[in-house]
Amino acid sequence: MNSNGFANKHLSVSRLRRFESCPLSFKLHYVDQLKAEPNDALRFGSLLHAVLERLYRWVVDEEFAGRIEEARALEVYREEWQRSGLSGFAVFQEGVDILHAYLGEHGEVDHRNVLAVEQEFRLPAGAFEVLGYIDRVDRIDDETIAIIDYKTNRLIFTRDEVDSDFQLTVYLMAARQLWPWAAKVRLVFHLLRHGIQMETERTEAQVEAARDYIIALGRQTEAAIDYPARLNANCSYCDHRNQCPAYRDAVAGRVEVVRSSPDDLEAVAREREQVAHLAKILYARKAELEEVLKAQLEGRDTLELAGVVYQMSRATQASYPVGPTLAVLEELAGLAPDRARDRLLVVDKGRLDALVKDLARNMNRAKHRMLKAHLDAVAEKTVVPRFYAKEVR
Ligand code: SF4
Repeated sequence: MNSNGFANKHLSVSRLRRFESCPLSFKLHYVDQLKAEPNDALRFGSLLHAVLERLYRWVVDEEFAGRIEEARALEVYREEWQRSGLSGFAVFQEGVDILHAYLGEHGEVDHRNVLAVEQEFRLPAGAFEVLGYIDRVDRIDDETIAIIDYKTNRLIFTRDEVDSDFQLTVYLMAARQLWPWAAKVRLVFHLLRHGIQMETERTEAQVEAARDYIIALGRQTEAAIDYPARLNANCSYCDHRNQCPAYRDAVAGRVEVVRSSPDDLEAVAREREQVAHLAKILYARKAELEEVLKAQLEGRDTLELAGVVYQMSRATQASYPVGPTLAVLEELAGLAPDRARDRLLVVDKGRLDALVKDLARNMNRAKHRMLKAHLDAVAEKTVVPRFYAKEVR
């Protein structure tokens, strides 16, 4: 207990997030101090973070300007791989591919533009101090910096998730403290698997709300007596799931779901969330079990266990290059290329967005905006109903 009466005056973003997502996970980790067992997804994220940290530290230490050589990056990658505890060629190769794509796009660096790597910050919030680390901070110009947070998620964040992410708000507060000259702070999630950056900003109201939230959550962590398990969509990634009775019960199908009446909408929503979390936990467990079976199938054609035959099969996916396909249709079916093009071709939005982004480098802002507006005007849009669920604090 310190002079403020708090056992932990120092909070960290990860500490707050852990308590917020599941008090039991917080207890197992910080109170009981049990050994965490990160799963492969977490290890893979840590591996890529470590590689990029070492590369950018080298850039700063050596005052390097130029293109980071892929051979250097791979050497660092191999060393970090050995420490990661990961195994499996497919995962190894995935990391190599991500690194290759990263260097292709961002390999040209100048140490003068790298302000910080794994920057520690200590942010006062009421009686607490939030301790954290920012992956990288770049200097953009005399009044702008970019806070870069690497992510290795498989799913791309929604715009709403990026615009309301608590961690990025805390980073903004820290950046204002550390680099007060920066009038503009860009907040960037760099999604390494997808090779895209998602940028966002914050209003003053969001910053103030985050400060209040830190204080409230900090007090909650101090006052906690019970630490209930909160089964959630991320339980399968939890580094204490093997020590958690609630997770064990969920995987064994021993969780009781109270069937709600359609007249009680609160209960319907509660049941829906509970079932959604359980489904995700079970689905992730199914994937884990399949990985074990797939590894056994590497050296044989089939595996017969518990009355089921398992085997790997190859599914062929065909794609048709535009030119030769239209030529065949014209030659053998007499279909004019214009008519065939209208019937068959649709431009993929993701690829178009990537192309427009590339083109933007050689365009002024006004022309780029006009290009986007014209493309938007020719787009054929369909509105599909989408069920959306997001937890609110
Ligand atoms: S597995 Fe889920 S419920 Fe259990 S401690 Fe982890 S987050 Fe909490």
